Amino acid sequence: MVCVEVPEPAGDGVRVKIAAAGVCGSDLHLVELMPLAATLGHEFAGTLADGRLVAVEPYAPCRACADCLDGRPYHCQRGLQTLGLDRDGGMAEWCLVPESSVVLLPTGLDPAASALVEPVAVAVHAVRLAGDVSGMSTAVIGGGTIGLCALAALQAAGAASVDVVVRHNHQREATERLGGRADQSTGATWDVVVDAAGTEASLAQAIRMVRPGGRVVLAGTYWQGTVPLPAIELCMKEVRLIPSMMYGHDATSRDFDVAARLLVTRPEIAATLITHRFPLDAVAEAFAVARDRAAGSIKVILEP
Ligand SMILES: [Zn+2]
Ligand SMILES: [Zn+2]
Repeated sequence: MVCVEVPEPAGDGVRVKIAAAGVCGSDLHLVELMPLAATLGHEFAGTLADGRLVAVEPYAPCRACADCLDGRPYHCQRGLQTLGLDRDGGMAEWCLVPESSVVLLPTGLDPAASALVEPVAVAVHAVRLAGDVSGMSTAVIGGGTIGLCALAALQAAGAASVDVVVRHNHQREATERLGGRADQSTGATWDVVVDAAGTEASLAQAIRMVRPGGRVVLAGTYWQGTVPLPAIELCMKEVRLIPSMMYGHDATSRDFDVAARLLVTRPEIAATLITHRFPLDAVAEAFAVARDRAAGSIKVILEP
């Protein structure tokens, strides 16, 4: 990982002066998988020319096709460009973003917390697709950023309880600080289980933990591509599998707006999740810290 000088962004779109950009687990995968086609960074916030703080939905959909209008801009029929993947993202001083992707933030959010709107929106979207969870027992597999955001989103949606399956001690502390439980009673089953880990083992565990007729939401990225399913158990229990992808909107609200409000209402989410902050030129160290989860990182933020 190196930080390089590039020309100022030019072309169509809105210039955002980046205040904070989060290092995502998918960034760690991307730098290993392929040569980068663009500047990384899909979790970022910054200011417009007039000083207003904004988050950015890191994609450039047409906003006019049937899928965009249905609230799934990530399925845009004209093809989707993603900022931080195939179009320059937010790990930079400036970023040029589509006007329709700019999300004005409510007052009360600081820039570092604003970089969390994107991962919280991932969780808000996953929980929205889960359907009604109010009064239900729920569980999350994975105590990283998406898992902890799912904890907060499930609480906001009225879940009676949220148990989080964690791997590390600092994830247990974060879970408890946010009002979740990190000790699963053996033999229990849950109405709704969110897989935020995205592995063969976590998917099997989610199917094992959910009650018959319950729902498993797939909120992590299954980087292996193909993952075996415990199909007999899945079918006998009639588990509903609900895949979730990025964020969009429903008839009444945009996932990014719901996420921003959640971060304003509960400042402890950002206080708990953001464990490290680095300047942009320390990007190599930032990625090393983000990669070493056993060393205590949850969300690492770059601040240009
Ligand atoms: Zn991400
Ligand atoms: Zn479209």
